[in-house]
Amino acid sequence: MTPTISKAIFVALAIGWYLIRHKYARRSRRERIVSSARGPLETALLLISLTGLGLVPLFYVATGIPRSADYSFHPLFAWLGLFFAIAALGMFHLTHRALGRNWSISLDVREKHKLVTEGIYRRVRHPMYSAFWLWAIAQALLLPNWIAGFAGVTGFGILYFGRVAREERMMLETFGDSYRAYMARTGRVFPSLL
Ligand code: SAH
Repeated sequence: MTPTISKAIFVALAIGWYLIRHKYARRSRRERIVSSARGPLETALLLISLTGLGLVPLFYVATGIPRSADYSFHPLFAWLGLFFAIAALGMFHLTHRALGRNWSISLDVREKHKLVTEGIYRRVRHPMYSAFWLWAIAQALLLPNWIAGFAGVTGFGILYFGRVAREERMMLETFGDSYRAYMARTGRVFPSLL
């Protein structure tokens, strides 16, 4: 494992991530939205997350900038990063498959929206965000640069903490007691220990 291979793995798996999303985004685009919690805050959060998980690390891989934030490469970190990235990609795929037509990039309720509570959604109610956390950690492990590596955890962290409570409020307003019961038996990004 070398720094170049580590960066190449990041780019190759980032393309895989994009392809999974693209495939499902095309399908769900056809589904009508009946209500939405979108707004300027959601747009800003999405842009921040995209910058941290996409623009900053890809710019770094392409140009080496910001060079002053580089630190020495450890192959063990990169191997761990590869492991996390593959796990993240697998989970990302499973969550998209489970959500299907109910998925949105933002906070939307679609026509005939179905609450998914089985499969990968059985014990965790935000497994797609778990996949994003794994991916953001992989980014930090694969890119030996304080800024490019940690931009993902920071950018996605801002989206996650700025969104998750509002998403749950929207789900409660839409699904009422079914979502309340679902919340009681699940954890947000880790299975609840109960
Ligand atoms: N927070 C979820 C989904 C992220 S995608 C996760 O991390 O896995 C965001 C969209 O998913 C929102 O528009 C919301 O309407 C929808 N959603 C969230 N949880 C859902 C569930 N359990 N079943 C169906 N749709 C869900």
